[in-house]
Amino acid sequence: MERNIGRHRKVLIAGGGIGGLAVGGALAELGFRVTILEQADDFREVGAGIQIAPNGIRALAALGLMGRIRPFAWSPTALVMRDAFTATDIVRIPLGDGFLKRFDDPYMVIHRADLLAVLLDACKKNPLIQLETGTRAIGFSEGTDVTLHLADGRELHGDILIGADGLRSAIRQSLINDGAPLPPRYIVYRGVIPRTALPDELWSPDVIMWTGPDADFVHYPLRTGELFNLVATFKAGKELNPEDIAGTRDDLMTPYANFRPEVQRMLALLTTERRWMVTDRDPVSGWARGSVALIGDAAHPMLQYMAQGASQALEDVVRLVSAVRAEPDDIPSAFAAYAASRYYRTARVQFSARQMIELCQVSGLMAGLRARYFGNRTEQQLHDGLAWLYSTRPHETFQ
Ligand SMILES: Cc1cc2nc3c(=O)[nH]c(=O)nc-3n(C[C@H](O)[C@H](O)[C@H](O)COP(=O)(O)OP(=O)(O)OC[C@H]3O[C@@H](n4cnc5c(N)ncnc54)[C@H](O)[C@@H]3O)c2cc1C
Repeated sequence: MERNIGRHRKVLIAGGGIGGLAVGGALAELGFRVTILEQADDFREVGAGIQIAPNGIRALAALGLMGRIRPFAWSPTALVMRDAFTATDIVRIPLGDGFLKRFDDPYMVIHRADLLAVLLDACKKNPLIQLETGTRAIGFSEGTDVTLHLADGRELHGDILIGADGLRSAIRQSLINDGAPLPPRYIVYRGVIPRTALPDELWSPDVIMWTGPDADFVHYPLRTGELFNLVATFKAGKELNPEDIAGTRDDLMTPYANFRPEVQRMLALLTTERRWMVTDRDPVSGWARGSVALIGDAAHPMLQYMAQGASQALEDVVRLVSAVRAEPDDIPSAFAAYAASRYYRTARVQFSARQMIELCQVSGLMAGLRARYFGNRTEQQLHDGLAWLYSTRPHETFQ
């Protein structure tokens, strides 16, 4: 029986974001005893939306969560890249019947808080899961078991440790020791507003990205349309301190000074107290050693330009769990198989995201070439171009 696979062996998970809660829930279903340790005072996500492509939808379905998520998800009818000066569409990827036929599963957007609530609820309902907040992991050591070292001086012992602690993962530092992520290169302002705060003529059912030189602006509806998500991303002009998160109206508006008035009007609806610094890391292998493994942003942090970070974290979870199912009595082999099977795929997404931001935020001749390239593409060609990413089944070995 599935539930016997874990035999109540103890799993420690550092980080209670999307990846940590998803893997905790899935391993408890196999009969592992799971402790999820989150540094923040509560399990929470930033107030913003998240796009989930068919590969992520499939991973959620494989984890048995799609039924609970669907009522909160919005299905956009297209992904649109729009010129920030002329308001003409550079490329429009339809997400309707042709897309569904091609990929079997839909493209959806969801409020991060809704996704996290579903994952958290599943964890709370499982008596094998213990949730602890306000607890920061600082590293681990290995002996007959795994010892997790906490900032409050405690040491926890487990049979398995999973680092799901994001971009600045402490577990990654103990495991790989490859230093800090690259310095922040982009600044993000984002937020969710009620649909009623948005003038009708600015509303669209689609995921729309307005692109201009060194800046872009993305928006889409959330839930059943009662919310609207806004994300502004622009290139950082100077070296940034990751802690420098206080925003200002000027800082937000200046990069968009020449964008269309529609964009300016929507930007005016964003609050500016807080901004986010985004960056990534170069891909590395070695996310598993013995009974320790990394997942999600701890393993392969990426820029948001393929809208795949969470989907890749969820694919990690499905793959890790199926590797454990295949070799329940040899966790080191299962984790090695998991990490090897995910390395090339996630590295490709990391690199693609870097290329995509270059393609989005271009100007002059490059913008003209981009318009010509996309202008000639058929719907089928556009969908074919995404097949490597969207068609994959989560249980497959991604090579
Ligand atoms: C602007 C923007 C837009 C994005 N849009 C999309 C999108 O549309 N689609 C998509 O799929 N992805 C998107 N992403 C990426 C996505 O948000 C991340 O890839 C995803 O959240 C990663 O999940 P995670 O659980 O691995 O890490 P995180 O979400 O970073 O969670 C890590 C958790 O660990 C906790 N933690 C950190 N350190 C410690 C520690 N030492 N001890 C204990 N706890 C710790 C943190 O508090 C956090 O709760 C976007 C990212 C950004 C910045």
